[in-house]
Parts: sequence; structure tokens; C-alpha cells
Amino acid sequence: MSYTNFKIETDADGIALVTWDMPEKSMNVLTQEVMAELDSIVDQTSGDPAVKGVVITSGKSSFSGGADLTMIKSMFAIQAEEKAKDPATAAQKLFDLAGRLSSLFRKLETSGKPWVSAINGTCMGGAFELSLACHGRVASNAKSVKIALPEVKVGIFPGAGGTQRVPRLTNTQDALQMMTTGSSLTASRAKALGLVHDVVDPDKLIDAAKGMIKNGLKPVQPWDEKGFKLPGGGIWTPASAQLWPAASAILRRETYGNYPGAIAILKSVYEGLQVPFDTGLRIEQRYFTEILQTTEAFSMIRSLFISMQELGKGARRPAGVPKTELKKVGVVGAGFMGASIAYVTAAAGIPVILIDRDMEAAGKGKAHSEGLVKDSIGKGRLTKDEGEALLSRITPSADYGDLKDADLVIEAVFEDRQVKKDVIEKVEAVIAEDTIFASNTSTLPITGLAKNSNRPDRFIGIHFFSPVEKMMLTEVILGKETGDRALAAALDYVAAIKKTPIVVNDTRGFYVNRCVFRYIHEAYDMLIEGVPPAMIENAAKMAGMPVGPLSLNDEVAIDLSQKILKATIADLGEKAVDPRHMAMIDKMVDEFDRRGRKNGKGFYEYPAKPAKKYLWPGLKELYPQKDADKIDVEVLKRRFLATIALEAARTMEEGIVTDPREADVGSILGFGFAPYTGGTLSYIDGMGANAFVELCEKLAEDYGHHFKPIPLLKDMAEKGDTFYGRFNPYGEAQKAA
Ligand code: NAD
Repeated sequence: MSYTNFKIETDADGIALVTWDMPEKSMNVLTQEVMAELDSIVDQTSGDPAVKGVVITSGKSSFSGGADLTMIKSMFAIQAEEKAKDPATAAQKLFDLAGRLSSLFRKLETSGKPWVSAINGTCMGGAFELSLACHGRVASNAKSVKIALPEVKVGIFPGAGGTQRVPRLTNTQDALQMMTTGSSLTASRAKALGLVHDVVDPDKLIDAAKGMIKNGLKPVQPWDEKGFKLPGGGIWTPASAQLWPAASAILRRETYGNYPGAIAILKSVYEGLQVPFDTGLRIEQRYFTEILQTTEAFSMIRSLFISMQELGKGARRPAGVPKTELKKVGVVGAGFMGASIAYVTAAAGIPVILIDRDMEAAGKGKAHSEGLVKDSIGKGRLTKDEGEALLSRITPSADYGDLKDADLVIEAVFEDRQVKKDVIEKVEAVIAEDTIFASNTSTLPITGLAKNSNRPDRFIGIHFFSPVEKMMLTEVILGKETGDRALAAALDYVAAIKKTPIVVNDTRGFYVNRCVFRYIHEAYDMLIEGVPPAMIENAAKMAGMPVGPLSLNDEVAIDLSQKILKATIADLGEKAVDPRHMAMIDKMVDEFDRRGRKNGKGFYEYPAKPAKKYLWPGLKELYPQKDADKIDVEVLKRRFLATIALEAARTMEEGIVTDPREADVGSILGFGFAPYTGGTLSYIDGMGANAFVELCEKLAEDYGHHFKPIPLLKDMAEKGDTFYGRFNPYGEAQKAA
């Protein structure tokens, strides 16, 4: 028999080598078709007496990324339609679908033939669950091999046997840790945990896998053998009595109960380990069905997987513009940001000219990369040769003439209109006619800066976030006259450095910072109301924000906030800023010299390491404090999420952000907006525009007019619209789910 996605070769020893290699895909994924073919392969191999055993591997550099989440997304749409017609049948259908992969894997492991998974590269999610159903697992020791069950990161959980097999192979604590964090294991760590049997050199992988079969590997899993004992000792043991209360407490501490998928892992393991394996699988299937119906699963899959991939692949790239070959990039300004931009560009294999006012400053910028490279070599992330090659791609210079053959120039000089004007003129005097000029400004509108350019159609904003090496997002900002070629080139560059772009129209603060300042300003309001500072920080984290607003403001620098507030007043008038905010920040900076982390004094105190930062006790003296027991923490949580989401909605109303995917992905990657919501607009869509408008109206009554719902939202509430329906990113042709 022949298959589209698999190739089967049976050797003289009767071992069938099944190579998974999907045509026209860079990575194998579990689709309906793959499942159907795998099902037939199990039938074929188990029914053929000549086949002694099966080795499954991949024909690609990675083993597989797991289940095709696009398939899961379409399942949501079908489910929603069917649920409206007949909820009971829809639930049964979903239950059957949710168990499809699991029963296929169970069929494979009870087929009577020994199966070995030869893990040649990254093996994620459903693909690792497939491997777990094999009787043997051998992994290559190549650096690229990563093994993980990362489903929790997109709101679901390992629902194809993962929650039952992992804790039957390794101790419960490690099993829970692996699945609730979704973190990756190296091959050797997986072996130490008992999750793979052997780790070998890449060229010995298939032989080692076949060797297991030749050595008499039994086609029976340990849990199907009589007398099987759980490696963790089972639920009713003294060790478990210690572990389980701590496990749920830790999960609560890390996630504040915001991730139903993570909670389901605990339940599935706890309940599943008390019953026979097949019953355990059924328990898992029930929880999986339940989780698939949560708003969190739907929104997280959409934003954190589908949309992120679509944006990364250039969803917003103008059609018909040829790909920009970036043979050389210029970075002007080798300071904090410029030095890092040079590093990520060189790390992507692109030669960089790094310019500053003199050679000393330019050299200092390159030294940043030297430090990072040294660190990476020390940690084994780069070889010495790779590190040297990376550094050789960065040429420090004080001569603008060196930019003459650059394809793209990014400026990251002081945030000063005049300095930027000089730089734009100097750069444009030397670069070629079609070179694109990008500014990394964080506050100056691009259209205004482009007035200094004699080619505004090739002028654009590429706004990086700090730390550049870590932050996955870049905001690409269109000035009024920015043309398609500049946009395409900027997106090609962002793709080359492997970051996710969002494309935003020009406005003060662009998208991300507008939202971030709403978050911080809500905390200012709370401080002024007398909410205890620790409660402000904790409520934000309970709402799902990774960093409390006061801590974030310390990182950004409080004097920078002061500068921005003053500039806003200067540009837009006194009314544009809450005078209480201005007074508080003036006090913090001018009276107490509390500028943030950078001077060791902000909303927090920063004692010498290893001591941890703590909230500045003087903060409580600034405003009369309320009794914490009389403050509803749920209201504080809602205020944070609502004020940010409302700002995101304003950017849509104003046409600053035009695609809901960008608002959502930008909010999660840019400032960690409660990822379980799927992002700012999914948060609104998730509760419905009507409920959101009601929430905002109530908050406006109690906490100020900045919560007043905007006309767009009121209209959406009236019509029952969602952002993804009204601003359908896929156009008319395809209804957004
Ligand atoms: P910085 O002060 O650390 O670096 C600026 C660099 O520009 C300095 O090395 C300076 O010597 C150099 N420079 C000044 N005038 C120059 C000239 N005429 N020619 C060549 N080099 C010149 O500042 P930074 O924090 O890196 O910020 C740079 C830009 O990036 C600003 O526009 C800022 O708004 C923006 N930005 C900053 C952040 C951040 O977190 N710091 C984030 C996003 C964007």
C-alpha cells in the first residue's frame, strides 16, 4: 500500500521503517489525513506476519510539531454551529473527535507488534504522545532535539494519552511539571526521566531503534502488564499526600487559576492514576472535551498559534512586491537599542554597519554583541566559530559613507527631533535611491519625522522593544506617505530576524505603548485612591499580567514617564493628562529622586543582590491608605484588563490598528496581556461586546470617564458584533471563526 504522508520500507529482518514526510510541508503535523493513514499502517503492519516490528521516524529535520492546530480551530467553528442546532449531539460529536487521536494511539500500542519511535528532531505535543504509545523510544543526541508537551501554552492539554502515559513512566512531580509548564526537554533529560529509552548519535538512530526490536522488545506497555506499579507510587501513598496539595498550590501561585487547561492536567492525572489505564484515557478524553469548549482554548489557539503564524508569515505584506534581499543593514546610534538591533541582525546572518558619533561609541555598541556572544559560547548555545562569524558581521564605524550600499538603515539615535533630522539628512545623502530608512523612535510620529526625508514613501517606523534580544514583537509603523515597498522591506527584515510584526498606522505611542500607559495609569489612579501598593501589584498578576504595573513603570523609568506626560501636555494641552498623575510623578522624580530601577529607587527599593526588590515603604505615606479587606480585588483585576482592552478598541476605532489579530498578538507579545484571554480584543469578544460595554459603564461610574465605552463598542453591542466578525481579517471570502 502507498501513502501520501508516509513511506514504508521493510528490511530483511522484517522491520518496517515508517518514515513520516508530509509533502509540501516544512514540518510534519497530525492532520485528519495523517491519522487515517497511520490507522491503516497499524492495520497493515499488524496484519502482516512478515512484519516483526515497526520503527517510526521522520523524513524532515524535525520529528513533528504535533497536532495541526488549524484543524482544531476549524473544529471550533463546526462545533459552534452544531451546538446552536442540537447541543447534545454536538457534545457527543466533540467527545468522539476529541478521542480520535487517543484511540488511534491505543490501537497502535495494543496492535501486537512492537513499535519504536526514532526521534530525530523536535518532537512536540501529539507527536510525542504518539511516541509515548510506542513500546520503545530512541532519541538522537543532536542539539536540535527538543521534546515537549506544550499544549498548555495554547490553552489545551495533552489529550491523546499524554496525561496518562507520562505519569506511568516517570514520577508524578516531573510529569506534572512537564505538562503544566509545557517546557522542553533535551533528549538526555527525557532519558533521565524515563521518557525515552536510549539516546544515540544521529547516524545510529535507526539502527538503535531497530536494535530494540531485534533484542526482543515486547509489544506490551508496562501499564498493560500484570502487577504494573506506578513509578511515583500511586495516589494513596505518603509521598503523594505531600505532593498533591503542593502541586495545586504551585499551579495556583503560577497561574492564579486562569488556565483551565493546566487545571485539567492535574485533575486528569490525579483521577487517571487511580483507575485502570483505559478508564484513565476516558477520563482524559472527558476533560479534553470540556477544555476544547472553553473560551480560553479557543482564543489562545487563535492568537498564540494561528494568528501569530499568519503574521509571522507576512499576512500584512503587500502582494506583488518582490522579496527584499538584505545584503547589508545599517544601524545608526550604537546605544542601548542600536547595539541590540545590530546583534539580532547579525545573528540572523545579515552584515551590519553600526554607526555612532565616533569610533569609540560605535565600538562600545559592538562590545554589547561581544558580551552576548561570549555568554552564548559559555552556555553552549553557540560554537566558537559561530560566535566569531556573528561578530565579524558587525562593522563599527563613524563614517556615514559606509552606509552607501545598505539595503535598509535603521536609526536608533537620541529621542530628539533635531538629532533625528540631522541623521536622516546625513544618511539620505549617501544611500542608494531605493534604500529603506526606518526609525526606531518610540514617541515621535513617523509622519512628522518623514518630513525631514526627501523620499517619505521609503520612510517607515520599525519599533523594537527592550530587551531586543528577547522580545518577540516589533511594531511596524506606517507614516502617511509610507509606500508598499518600504512596508514589504520592513516585514522581510522582521521575518529575517525571526520576530513577529504588527503593522500600525501612525499615532502618539503607536499601539503597544498606548495600551501600556493605560495599564500604568490605572495603577496611578489606584495609588491615589489609597489602594495598598502590594494589592495593586498582586491584583494585576492575578488578572494574568506577567509584571505588576508599578514594577513595569520602574523598568521603563519613572522620569521617562514624567517626560512623556510633559510632552503630552506640551503637544495636546493640560487636559490631556490627569493633573493628579502629573503631581504624583513630579513628586516621585523631583522631590524623592525615585526614577526607577536604573537609579535603584522607584516604586520599589532595589537592595544589593541577592536580596530581592521590595515595594518602597514611603509609597504608603503618599496617600491615605484604604483598608485592603474592604477593596474588591476582582474589581481591581477587571479595571486593569478593561482599561487596556478599551484602549485597544480605541485604536481599532481610530484605524490605527486595522486587523484584530495584530491587536491581540501585539498585546500578548508586547506586554504580556493576560495570555489566557487571547489578547485585548479577544478579551472583549470572549465576554461579548454587550457585557464589555456594561462593565465599562459601571467602571466609568465608579472610577472615571476614561472607562466610558466608545461608540464603536456601543454599536457592536447593539448589533451583537465581534471584532473578528466586524473587522474580519480574512476578508469576505472566509467567515472568521
Ligand atoms: P541611547 O541614548 O542609549 O542611544 C542613542 C545612541 O545614539 C548613543 O549611542 C548616541 O551616541 C547615538 N547618537 C546620538 N546622536 C547621534 C548621531 N548624530 N549620529 C550617530 N549616533 C548618534 O538611546 P536608546 O535608549 O538606545 O534609544 C534610541 C532610540 O530608540 C530612541 O529613539 C528611543 O526612543 C528608541 N527606543 C528606545 C527604547 C528603550 O527601551 N530604550 C525602546 C524602543 C525604542
